[in-house]
Amino acid sequence: MTNPPAERAERCASLSVVVPCHNEEANLEELHRRLAATLPQVAETWQVVLVDDGSTDGTARIGLELAAADPSVQFLSFSRNFGKEAAMLAGLEHARGAAVVLMDGDLQHPVELIPALVARHLDGFDQVVARRSRTADPKVRTALSRAFYRVVDPLIDVPLDDGAGDFRLLSRRAVDALVALRESNRFSKGLYSWIGFPTAMIDYDNVQRDAGRSSWTLRTLLDYAIDGILSFNTKPLRVVIWLGLWMVGLMLLYVVWLVVGVAAFGVETPGYVTTIAALVLLAGVQLIVTGVIGEYVGRIYSEVKRRPAYLLRVDTAEQPAGPGGGPGPADRA
Ligand code: UDP
Ligand code: MG
Repeated sequence: MTNPPAERAERCASLSVVVPCHNEEANLEELHRRLAATLPQVAETWQVVLVDDGSTDGTARIGLELAAADPSVQFLSFSRNFGKEAAMLAGLEHARGAAVVLMDGDLQHPVELIPALVARHLDGFDQVVARRSRTADPKVRTALSRAFYRVVDPLIDVPLDDGAGDFRLLSRRAVDALVALRESNRFSKGLYSWIGFPTAMIDYDNVQRDAGRSSWTLRTLLDYAIDGILSFNTKPLRVVIWLGLWMVGLMLLYVVWLVVGVAAFGVETPGYVTTIAALVLLAGVQLIVTGVIGEYVGRIYSEVKRRPAYLLRVDTAEQPAGPGGGPGPADRA
């Protein structure tokens, strides 16, 4: 998809930028500087919602300073680390703009792309997705992501786009729709697809992190993959049924083979290896099946508890959360 012309007379009425931050002390000031330079060109009024996801460095201090110095900045801080999904949800719930841009706080999502996102939005798109090319990514990381999408894609109902992440612009009704989805195991990439609405893509080159470290490890990526598969449908249960049917079929063939053998050649010495192999294999399959079912039960358990997705420690606007929230600070201690 080609980028729209850079110069546009139109600006959007109000734009919110939501930034989840976990240990981003080295990046926040630079991010704010770039946002403050860019946003006035594309929006009549703008708001930046910084969400500190239980950072252990100076992120909270810098966030508070930025909010104190710039009334357009709203700073939220969690009581502990709740994860990026929770941070994005908190940001979306506190964003008041007619359009909302979601972006990372590590400068990997170029601020300079926001005018293009807004322009596409003004063309009538509810979701404008900035899709990164993977040229600058480390090789291992790229291979891992590719593998992730290859495994996850057939298992879930909504199409996931490789390279299309959380960097995107959402219209007010798209934000309201996302916020209305109250599941506690949030898998945003699936949720974006699920809500639908007219969607446009814009490509950009990936940038390396300027400072700080990515909080993702192989372990969290794997956890994310399992979440992606399990939080969207019950296909794994169906896979497990097919697995069971195949095993039963193969076992039946094997039994027929044994019986025919006995009928033709009489009883031979019993096969110790086959017995053990069948036993171990079946035990393994049963454990996997139990695990899959257990995951779903666990999810039901965490959903029925109805715990909030996050707890706030600081909100510089001191305003009750809610989709589309009212303007101005409410006086709440
Ligand atoms: N992040 C967060 N909570 C976490 C981990 C990450 O809010 O527990 C934020 C982080 O500050 C950054 C964004 O999510 O703004 C993406 O994180 P990161 O750069 O570590 O992920 P990557 O770009 O490697 O996918
Ligand atoms: Mg990053």
